[in-house]
Amino acid sequence: MSENVQLLDYPEVESFLYAESTEIETVDDNIVSLAHQMAHIMYNSDGIGISAPQVGINKRLIVLDCTEEKNNTVYIINPVITWQSREISQSPEACLSYPGLVMPVSRPKRIKVEGVDLDGKKISFEASGLYARCICHEVDHLDGIPYIQRVSRQVRRHLIRKWKKGRNQSE
Ligand code: ZN
Repeated sequence: MSENVQLLDYPEVESFLYAESTEIETVDDNIVSLAHQMAHIMYNSDGIGISAPQVGINKRLIVLDCTEEKNNTVYIINPVITWQSREISQSPEACLSYPGLVMPVSRPKRIKVEGVDLDGKKISFEASGLYARCICHEVDHLDGIPYIQRVSRQVRRHLIRKWKKGRNQSE
């Protein structure tokens, strides 16, 4: 069994968010346990996606559930986006590592993804809309690119300043 993990707070989490995560070579009990813990944290935090760096582990593992009913947990190990549509859409995006910080991020409308599931089997599928957006956001985490890097510097500065002000006031 792996040790217990938890969602790291900002700004401590940032050193993990800006690092590139490594491939997982074997899907062993530690990885399965980590994946289940991440799912638990995601549901408890009302999130629709989470990546291992957010719990302080720079390994390529993401967990998602973009259904309204919250009844379809998707685990992807070593996810790779193999294709993305030229069509993009811009939508407000949030992140468990930056609570309350919403940024307008452009993402492809449709993508194709490959990876490995918790049984160590290869998977590949197509995703669109919110699901595609969520996968892109989480795969970005594995590449060390938080969503705040996906907006212009001007927008980022403005929104982060506002966000930090709000955080200071609520402390
Ligand atoms: Zn995130």
